[in-house]
Amino acid sequence: MTNEPGISPRLTGAKGALADYVIYINWDGFAYDYYEWANGRSGPGTPVLNFLASRGAIFTSARNGFPSITNPMQTSIVTGAWPAVHGNTYRYYDPVENLVKQTGRENAAETIAEAVERSGLSCASVQQFVLDGRGTYPSDPSHLYIQPGGPWRRRLAEAVKILRREAVTAQGGLATVPEVPRFLAIYADDLDASGHNSGIAYGLSLAFSYDAWKSKMVRQLSAMDRDLGSLVDALVDLGIFDRTSIVLTADHGMSPVSGKSSLPDLLATLRGLGLRCELLAPGERAADDTDVVLVSAGLAVQFYFRRDITLTRYDAIIDALSTKPYFGGYMSFHELRKAGAHPDLGQLLIWPRPPRHFKAQGFFFGITGQHDSGDDTSRHVFMLLSGAGVRHGVVIDRPVEIIDVAPTISRLLGIRPPANATGRVLAEALLPGAPAPGLQQETHGQQELLPPASGSPEQQGVRGEQTPE
Ligand SMILES: [Zn+2]
Repeated sequence: MTNEPGISPRLTGAKGALADYVIYINWDGFAYDYYEWANGRSGPGTPVLNFLASRGAIFTSARNGFPSITNPMQTSIVTGAWPAVHGNTYRYYDPVENLVKQTGRENAAETIAEAVERSGLSCASVQQFVLDGRGTYPSDPSHLYIQPGGPWRRRLAEAVKILRREAVTAQGGLATVPEVPRFLAIYADDLDASGHNSGIAYGLSLAFSYDAWKSKMVRQLSAMDRDLGSLVDALVDLGIFDRTSIVLTADHGMSPVSGKSSLPDLLATLRGLGLRCELLAPGERAADDTDVVLVSAGLAVQFYFRRDITLTRYDAIIDALSTKPYFGGYMSFHELRKAGAHPDLGQLLIWPRPPRHFKAQGFFFGITGQHDSGDDTSRHVFMLLSGAGVRHGVVIDRPVEIIDVAPTISRLLGIRPPANATGRVLAEALLPGAPAPGLQQETHGQQELLPPASGSPEQQGVRGEQTPE
């Protein structure tokens, strides 16, 4: 099939490339739990994902960062860096202006698509909106951004048209890519919409109990898995399946939410400690005598202390809250900084134990889902690498992070990582190849911070190979 138009017979690529093409799929809100439920005893399975896993590596301990919210975490995946680096942290309190603010698509770091573009390779994005204008553009067929809308099935159909070099609708008219993009991103939010369970989304109706919600999520995943098969078919048909790596992951998971709000007790507990506190929404300001500003999207609560606070008093807050039945966990300021959170995220973060919540109103009926939490249901995401350059049939239990995705895509394509990336190449999942060019100091520095590898000496050897002195 090497005479297929738009497909070069042998890509010269960058030295050290492990794959000619990389397809990065993001299924927003794909909690790892969903995969386990679907593949449990009475589940329908996910045959296409499992086929890809048999030709690749599945990560059973992939986690996101703080806050566990779409835009900051989507940005972290494509930049390989946490919010402290790229600056997108969603909702926060600005003490100088005494105002609660919210970020949109701010991103101060280079994206993987920009790294691909600047390395001279073609790319495209189907609704991966954090790459819109950031390496892919509505008016540039060589680095095309399109936004077809609709469910996964429809977006995937447009992606397949791009692979087949058929015309697709871009801004203001039809566009045809000049060659099969070396890097193609596809974004779909069907699982996120279903998981929130706040209305009828993409054809699935509301679930009113935890068990019904679980089976709804399994049904949604199963349907998306079925459609994913058409991508495999298209790649086989084009003759590039063996030269393509597929990366599939998510920005966050989903925590079930139901019952009355724990916010009144949280506020009363803080007042009991002598703290005047206020929960503020975006655009709101604190009263002059407020000691603590609280900011929340409903689950995790960010604390902003407006006056100096002693460590004893700080610890007393944590002690008082940690005895509560609704308490799920916390991160201190120091822990948040170590985890790469932006300093604007606050000086203390606490989150509820599912299904408890800190929303302004309770739920007296039914169930919903949210993911702005440090709970593992929100932080544990699905991650899969498959195809060219990837070891086959590998299960990796060692913890990995979503910021490892962009450096790994760079490694597969044989290009330098995004300029600000601090994530590492997931070398334990890759075939040994020629050393990649331009793996820079950040990657090396990050590896030194990681806990000792539990992998085999062979894996350690591969890791070592990635960090030439
Ligand atoms: Zn999301």
